[in-house]
Amino acid sequence: MIGGDLKVARRGLMFILSSPSGAGKTTLAERLLEKDDEMVLSVSATTRQRRPGEAHGKDYYFVSEEEFTRMRDEGEFLEWANVFGHYYGTPRSLVEDVLRQGKDVLFDIDWQGAQQLDEVAGEDVVKVFILPPSREELERRLRQRAQDPEDVVQRRMAKADAEMSHWAEYDYVIVNYDLDESEELLRSILFAERLKRRRQIGLAAIVKEMIGEG
Ligand code: 5GP
Repeated sequence: MIGGDLKVARRGLMFILSSPSGAGKTTLAERLLEKDDEMVLSVSATTRQRRPGEAHGKDYYFVSEEEFTRMRDEGEFLEWANVFGHYYGTPRSLVEDVLRQGKDVLFDIDWQGAQQLDEVAGEDVVKVFILPPSREELERRLRQRAQDPEDVVQRRMAKADAEMSHWAEYDYVIVNYDLDESEELLRSILFAERLKRRRQIGLAAIVKEMIGEG
């Protein structure tokens, strides 16, 4: 809160996190959401299979290709993309509701989605890219996840390369050496962006009152 009796309303922002899988993005997103009730996660729709431990409506809305196509054709997505053979899309309604309340939306989407959101809502978009500390470390993490055959690991590395090649399109880049430190850095970005003058609605009126009429 700024300014005595009058509160400054905030224009919500669209906080996008992208990274190759294995860089720590999901953990960082969870930590951010846990400690911040001004931020809501955008749950995407996808045509890919549900993985063990994932819940419909929490991790994704798992839909058929027919359903996805219907949603896309009826304009229900703010952005959508084909990511390595599966469709993913951001439902429009939640995002619009949350922003209207002056809260922020967190997006875990790829570079294609980040580009599209930038085109439709550039003013409200903040794009953060999370990089792994090194190629070796990323490969180690991808191997650790499961006892996958070599060709599967190599395919994941190729996908990581494709995603990482877009790092320069982002406003901020965090190299994830340490989760606690990265969490702190991410929160610093969020706080600074929230304080951007143009995001604080009614600030001019409050400052005018503080300065006085004459
Ligand atoms: P996964 O299938 O491993 O959960 O996600 C694969 C990739 O798709 C990740 O890079 C993730 O950020 C991205 N993704 C998830 N949801 C969306 C979405 O709604 N739109 C776009 N463009 N990418 C998404």
